[in-house]
Amino acid sequence: MARMREFGTTIFAEMSALAARTGSINLGQGFPDTDGPAAMLDRAVSAIRGGSNQYPPGPGVPELRQAVSEHRKAHYGLDYDPDGEILVTVGATEAIAASILALCEPGEEVIAFEPYYDSYAASVALAGAVLRPVTLRPVEGRFTFDPAELRAAVGPRTRVILVNSPHNPTGTVFTRAELEEIALLCREHDLTAVTDEVYEHLTFDGVEHVPLATLPGMRDRTVMISSAGKTFSVTGWKTGWVCAPPPLVRAVQTVKQFLTFTAAAPWQLAVAHALRHELEWVSRLRADLESKRDRLTAGLSAAGFEVYRPSGTYFVQTDIRPLGFSDGLALTRELPSLAGVVAIPTQVFYARPERGSHFVRFAFCKKDEVIDEAVNRLARLG
Ligand code: PMP
Ligand code: GLN
Repeated sequence: MARMREFGTTIFAEMSALAARTGSINLGQGFPDTDGPAAMLDRAVSAIRGGSNQYPPGPGVPELRQAVSEHRKAHYGLDYDPDGEILVTVGATEAIAASILALCEPGEEVIAFEPYYDSYAASVALAGAVLRPVTLRPVEGRFTFDPAELRAAVGPRTRVILVNSPHNPTGTVFTRAELEEIALLCREHDLTAVTDEVYEHLTFDGVEHVPLATLPGMRDRTVMISSAGKTFSVTGWKTGWVCAPPPLVRAVQTVKQFLTFTAAAPWQLAVAHALRHELEWVSRLRADLESKRDRLTAGLSAAGFEVYRPSGTYFVQTDIRPLGFSDGLALTRELPSLAGVVAIPTQVFYARPERGSHFVRFAFCKKDEVIDEAVNRLARLG
């Protein structure tokens, strides 16, 4: 299909296959190598044993919609009605695709900050819409955008702005001031924001995630998306959700029902349990990840990479030029033979790959000994 021709195989599939084939340490695809809370896992088993094995309602199992509603209220002071303002999806990936398909006519434009998670460009292409990238660049060690560049990207055909914070792959958590710039444009130009908040709980150094929907005038023009994968270390459960006012949720659900109809039942019951009872576990995960972040950033710096210290997510963005390399895609394809490690070339997250050719992303959601071994191997590059 012409619209999808340029997409081929995702970089995550390519790099995980490379890791398996070469027996390398996989710091590429972002998935943890330890399980989520035991009681949540037990709840999934008891849901299956207890007969929750048929189609759940289209919008999602009521217990999960109720738990999402309570969680949004408790954490962010946001009110979403579980009946009509919350939709359970097959991960955040389906939520993003269904939102873009629901909101954009062919030819309309979607603004996204590059580098961006790879499904954004594919979802925009599926909708026949046009992606307008705004580049995040390092300023004093942290990736951010130029408000003038953001403003210049808005035109008469702009319909949606996609906002991912905490941001994969740079680790930036947008400040309230940055979000205010975005909100201002949304209000001025009547744009809908689609927010990808899958790393909402994974922030470090006391930095708190601020949902765009909490800013003045934004709740009613935001499709807020999150998922259980990162928060509870169950990336294979593919359980996500959308929170938005009724007309937006209805539009997204109209698309969703013909993509997957509904999301798998047992995980929904287990995630409902987790949102209600496992947030202390998540606090420990966050502290653990912070120390893993420190471990990997120190190791990569010692190995000669320029490291951008992330304030959130699973990932460290690095610049490979101090090591004498300039092409991240070429380096990551060679890295298994050079060092027995797999990483992700960030250039594939750019609409204009030349802007990111010198960046490589490493994941730290791994056991300490795995990080240490990877760092020892990478030290050979210098
Ligand atoms: N958005 C971002 C920024 C991600 O890193 C990921 C990968 N987990 C997703 C969305 C997809 O989430 P899910 O697995 O819930 O579809
Ligand atoms: N979100 C994860 C990452 O960025 C993996 C996603 C995927 O495999 N599609 O690494």
